[in-house]
Amino acid sequence: GLDAAWAVDWLLRSAAVVADNRVALSELDRAIGDGDHGENLDRGFSAIVAKLDEEEPATPGAAFKMAAMTLMSKVGGAAGPLYGTAFLRAATAVGDADALDPTLLVAALTAARDGVVARGKAEPGEKTMIDAWTPAVDAAAAAAAGGSPADVLLAAAEAAEAGAVATDPLIARKGRASYLGERAIGHRDPGAASSALILRAAADAAV
Ligand code: ADP
Ligand code: MG
Ligand code: MG
Repeated sequence: GLDAAWAVDWLLRSAAVVADNRVALSELDRAIGDGDHGENLDRGFSAIVAKLDEEEPATPGAAFKMAAMTLMSKVGGAAGPLYGTAFLRAATAVGDADALDPTLLVAALTAARDGVVARGKAEPGEKTMIDAWTPAVDAAAAAAAGGSPADVLLAAAEAAEAGAVATDPLIARKGRASYLGERAIGHRDPGAASSALILRAAADAAV
């Protein structure tokens, strides 16, 4: 199963990929929002890296909870509470387990997605991060039957990436991009793009 070291590696890899894509994510947000998504997430994940330098979480759940609290307090905007809720629900789903088997991993991903839905009320197809998370959860659940944790995360990452690409032709129904109407067509949702990067980081950490 995936242990605390995996969870820490996931967070560190997420921080690195968010930093590498800070400008690109804000550029996506400049097209259909207010241009701050990359900066918002980079601020949050940099703070997570600083916290990890101070204290090593003992379980995946402890790592998720620390990430949740940090993202909620540092990211702001729409994405902070949404990602914060995702990690907090994942923490609750895994409890104090030392390692996550495929079943617990799917439970964590499902709880994370459900948390974003509870908080933001977005349905699939409304051009939000849910359009990355929902196919990721479905693919993870399908891969969990007979698959390893790494297989589950690889399936989730690939589905999230396809889901993010599939937001391009959509009209946004939630968040700032919804003010644009048809002018949002042809642009990728920044939160779906960042969700795909973060889920890919989870898979990379499991290899
Ligand atoms: P803000 O819009 O406050 O500047 P960010 O730019 O950091 O916040 O995040 C924007 C992203 O948040 C969007 O691309 C979208 O994926 C996500 N988002 C916004 N509103 C919702 C919602 N109600 N449900 C799910 N995701 C949402
Ligand atoms: Mg923004
Ligand atoms: Mg903003």
